Amino acid sequence: MKIVPRIKQQPERLIDENGLRVDGRRVDELRKMKMEVGVLKQADGSAYLEQGKTKVFVAVYGPRELHPRHLALPDRALLRCTYRMASFSVEERKSPAPSRREIELSKVIRQALEPAVFLERFPKTAIDVFIEIIQADGGTRCASITAASLALADAGIPMSDLVAAVAVGKVDGHIVLDINDIEDKYGQGDMPVALMPRKKQITLLQLDGKWTPEEFRQGLELAIRGCEQIYAMQKTALRKRYLEVREEVLREGE
Ligand code: ADP
Repeated sequence: MKIVPRIKQQPERLIDENGLRVDGRRVDELRKMKMEVGVLKQADGSAYLEQGKTKVFVAVYGPRELHPRHLALPDRALLRCTYRMASFSVEERKSPAPSRREIELSKVIRQALEPAVFLERFPKTAIDVFIEIIQADGGTRCASITAASLALADAGIPMSDLVAAVAVGKVDGHIVLDINDIEDKYGQGDMPVALMPRKKQITLLQLDGKWTPEEFRQGLELAIRGCEQIYAMQKTALRKRYLEVREEVLREGE
């Protein structure tokens, strides 16, 4: 039996002579995306998202009574986010114990979502957002934010806008949109950005690597354009779900 190495090798170059990336995309192209809303029966709201090979499920519960009670906030709901990677989501088995990275990303994702949610409408309650990465191929924090805002909307939680997110990167000296795992690993930098597109408000901006001011400006502009494309897909996915619910209600009424 031939044993094929499973660990991704470093490619000779990340952008070829035609300006195409390792997965054939142009520098300003998003990965292929799929979004579905209302996919989990038990949750108050849920979403499934595929961004290239990255796959994520999000379940939202609440607003609901908060335990332990002493955590309750008198003037608003407590938004809790839990980002988890399945053990089988990466090349080498990930330990099921929560890692420092998962704890950090849970906080970063919560902070990117908080500005969009009218938390003050539900004092003393909790809104729980559970994020499960089923397959990780780069950009999981951004995919989580995009999917979580869909799941929050599906749960009927009032928001001033959806949040759309995408990471741009610096790869072989080019600024590229929506980096995958190989580009993340072997590129020279990445910048995840989350945006409330209608309000034009950035709710997450992280930066890794060395960027000149001009590269930063170019990257931010590319990320904003990417978020706007994702926003259009989010609205389509929500509209599709509303139409399904409407059909269900009409059928029940017959
Ligand atoms: P993000 O997924 O938001 O880009 P990171 O930059 O921390 O977050 O991770 C980049 C990618 O590295 C992930 O999407 C995943 O593909 C990979 N990765 C993260 N953690 C692990 C791990 N424990 N084992 C293997 N690969 C991992």
